[in-house]
Amino acid sequence: MLEIRDLVKVYPGPVAALHGVRLDVPRGLFGLLGPNGSGKSTLMKILAGLLAPTSGRVVLDGVDVTDRPQLVWPRLGYLPQDFGFYPRLTGEAMLRHLLDLKGVGERSRRSRIALELLDRVNLGAAAGRRVAEYSGGMRQRLGIAQAIAGDPELLIVDEPTAGLDPEERLRFHHLLAELAETRTVLLSTHLVEDVAMLCPRFAVLRFGRLLLEGTPQQARRAIPGRLAEGLVARDALEPLRRTARVTQHLLFEGRHRVRLHVPEGPLPPEFVEVPATLEDAYMLLTLDDAARTLPASA
Ligand code: ADP
Ligand code: MG
Repeated sequence: MLEIRDLVKVYPGPVAALHGVRLDVPRGLFGLLGPNGSGKSTLMKILAGLLAPTSGRVVLDGVDVTDRPQLVWPRLGYLPQDFGFYPRLTGEAMLRHLLDLKGVGERSRRSRIALELLDRVNLGAAAGRRVAEYSGGMRQRLGIAQAIAGDPELLIVDEPTAGLDPEERLRFHHLLAELAETRTVLLSTHLVEDVAMLCPRFAVLRFGRLLLEGTPQQARRAIPGRLAEGLVARDALEPLRRTARVTQHLLFEGRHRVRLHVPEGPLPPEFVEVPATLEDAYMLLTLDDAARTLPASA
């Protein structure tokens, strides 16, 4: 169990990136969901022991590791958001180099370890190809290969699905789900879909504050009232937006498909009730928070 206690991070500037985050991360896959700039990477760097918090504690299985990050390093795998590779190396050579840096295994065994890890993330067949030729999904899987070297019990992955196409994202989801069977995986993402597909528990971070922590089902059930969906003409959009909270607005066959929240009373004409999704819950939470934290416009 990873216990995060009242973490505050103020960067020089000053920029307050975390405002007292308190969270328990259990075993399995845990999602940290938040928009860009919410403090996800800051939190993950602190947990990985690469950045010192301004105040607060990080406790791993009862051991306070805040001031002694070297205690966590052997037990931790980390895939940073901006992981860099040498594109001219082959996948295997790149991974061997990373194992060298990490000090995993004896030198003579590193080649074998690298190949085993590549197999693990389904890159065995691409081991001899240059990283420059890898797709985005393959690079992320190579990043996972270095992160799981040494079989860490805690795996921290920072926005690994950003920029992957749908097929690669699905494949990556399967890999994360498999890795989470035997360890804690903390996944940060700005995509609600990642959480909906993968995470039995999650938390929402916004402007460095946790807005919510729980299961996706709890988040959906906590929405008061109903969700409704309908097709509307363009000139009906503005009046709707003024009276209701819109959780989704898409074009559908050239018309505007709108999902909105109906806290009480009848649905608008031509709208039908739909089951609430995690996306709805997240949107409403974000809108509520914006209404609370930003001055109301005239
Ligand atoms: P996220 O990963 O959710 O996009 P970050 O943790 O990267 O969020 O950033 C949170 C806030 O901290 C942002 O306002 C960002 O501009 C700021 N920030 C991040 N890193 C630094 C830094 N090294 N120096 C100053 N401000 C930073
Ligand atoms: Mg980030």
